[in-house]
Amino acid sequence: MKKVWIEPGCISCGSCQYRAPEVFMVTTSSEVLPHADLKKNCALIKNAAQACPVNVIQYEE
Ligand code: SF4
Repeated sequence: MKKVWIEPGCISCGSCQYRAPEVFMVTTSSEVLPHADLKKNCALIKNAAQACPVNVIQYEE
């Protein structure tokens, strides 16, 4: 996986951080941690993206 980002509209539910804690940090909205290992966490990121209630987690493979 090359890139992960959050589109506007996050409702700060915390689900992505719960599913992929090495990648997402949720404060007022979700952020992708700058040094996250996207390759290692690829499956967890896809899972988090699928589970996001407002579908704002995007990624490029
Ligand atoms: S799962 Fe979606 S809505 Fe919930 S905190 Fe993460 S990006 Fe925001």
